[in-house]
Amino acid sequence: MKDFNSWFLDTTERILAPKKIERVLTPEAQAERDDFKAIGYEDRGCTCFTGCVPCGWCTHPGNPLNQDEDESCWMEVSQ
Ligand SMILES: [Zn+2]
Repeated sequence: MKDFNSWFLDTTERILAPKKIERVLTPEAQAERDDFKAIGYEDRGCTCFTGCVPCGWCTHPGNPLNQDEDESCWMEVSQ
């Protein structure tokens, strides 16, 4: 069992200097996101109602809604 002092030091260190972890898109996912924006999908939205279901917007790999749900699109970086 750890003595109290080392436990206390470890704990306060963790509390006082928390590592800032940020979740960012992987380079591949970012490229797809850029493509999504480049073809103007960003401000277009879903067009499934026009009959072609699912529409290109829904199925685009760079669609933020798809990427948010896909863990493989994200990586964690510490600042
Ligand atoms: Zn759609």
